[in-house]
Amino acid sequence: MKIKRIEDVNLDSKTVLVRVDYNVPIKDGLVTDNTRIVSTEKTIKYLLEKNCKIVLMAHLGRPKGQVVEEFSLKPVVPEIERVMGVKVHFATDCVGEEADKVVAEAKQGEIVLLENLRFHKEETDNDKAFAEKLAKHGEVFVQDAFGALHRAHASTSAVAEFFGIEDKAIGFLVQKELEFLDRAIKTPQKPFTVIVGGAKVSDKIEVLNKFIDLCDTILIGGGMAYTFLRAQGLNIGNSLVEEEKVESAKSIIEKAASNNVEILLPADHVIATELSDAGSEPLAVEPQLTDSMAIPEGYMGLDIGPRTAALFAEKIKTSKTVFWNGPLGVFENDLFAKGSIAIAEILRQATEEGVITIVGGGDSLSVLKKAKIDRQALTHCSTGGGASMEFLEGKVLPGLKAVSQE
Ligand code: AMP
Repeated sequence: MKIKRIEDVNLDSKTVLVRVDYNVPIKDGLVTDNTRIVSTEKTIKYLLEKNCKIVLMAHLGRPKGQVVEEFSLKPVVPEIERVMGVKVHFATDCVGEEADKVVAEAKQGEIVLLENLRFHKEETDNDKAFAEKLAKHGEVFVQDAFGALHRAHASTSAVAEFFGIEDKAIGFLVQKELEFLDRAIKTPQKPFTVIVGGAKVSDKIEVLNKFIDLCDTILIGGGMAYTFLRAQGLNIGNSLVEEEKVESAKSIIEKAASNNVEILLPADHVIATELSDAGSEPLAVEPQLTDSMAIPEGYMGLDIGPRTAALFAEKIKTSKTVFWNGPLGVFENDLFAKGSIAIAEILRQATEEGVITIVGGGDSLSVLKKAKIDRQALTHCSTGGGASMEFLEGKVLPGLKAVSQE
């Protein structure tokens, strides 16, 4: 795909519409993790140097086409001002008269943040008329929302149709992410180990098929593990499972065996009968540790146990490249965070010893934060889990296709 970089476009004093991924965690009106904002700093500061007026558009959470106060982007404004060091104006809607007025009144060298795109159903519908209204906010379109590239939405896809081929490009964040994934993963230094966790089994299971052609070992934990354990005929109690993916899991296990790729599933688990909300609410029943791969009736597997963490650690330490996507337990709850934190710590140590470590996805980055590990301590932290997985799977990302010159 032929795609212009931000440096290939004439930007001098122009109004630039930038799609960013500011889907950040907010608690009590404060941004609790500004990683995604800091990641766009290079692009925004470059545009400021070119004396541009910058119009930022982003989504937050899943308000499903309704105005939901809890998902307002307003609390993000002071954080952008702090990181970028300039005034940020806020438009209480992303389209319409008020948005047009705020954009018109802002000066060159200033930033406008538009309210959550997903307050309009048309955003996720990839609606053309809505995209045209968004497109009116800028003369040039810059795609820098790496974490949203796998979505064909109005602000990532249709919007680009309203800009000429000279006036659309990818920003520095997208450029860096793509270069890194392309180089480090498509031609990895071997042995190459992939660690997959998290809960979105159907999103991730197909990419494992792709990884079997690339890697030597796959370590599966988190909610993903139980569909695989079920595929092996083991009892998984009430653990998360996607029954319709059990066959895919079976075929992945078979393909791995014939390709000489080792798949490791958890050898022990932290289990409980129920799960309170994320946070530190006490559970009605104390978590317990299993001594085998199976989960007893009535229990859910909620974290990998210490024996699994040690087995995974051995594999990580003897690898040259490691890619990690998805937490290995319900890490939001301190009772089930130990496995993910242990693996994050092993990755930090492995990086010091020369292993190339790549972490993808918001939740995995939150694990690093919880483990008090600086992102710089790993080789590369990708801001988009879904986008990086789909890119590796070889899919054409709609957000990239939209800005391509073809
Ligand atoms: P994903 O977006 O696919 O990376 O999924 C992240 C989510 O997976 C987190 O919110 C975790 O709480 C959840 N998760 C991890 N392990 C488990 C598990 N064993 N059972 C249920 N959910 C899990």
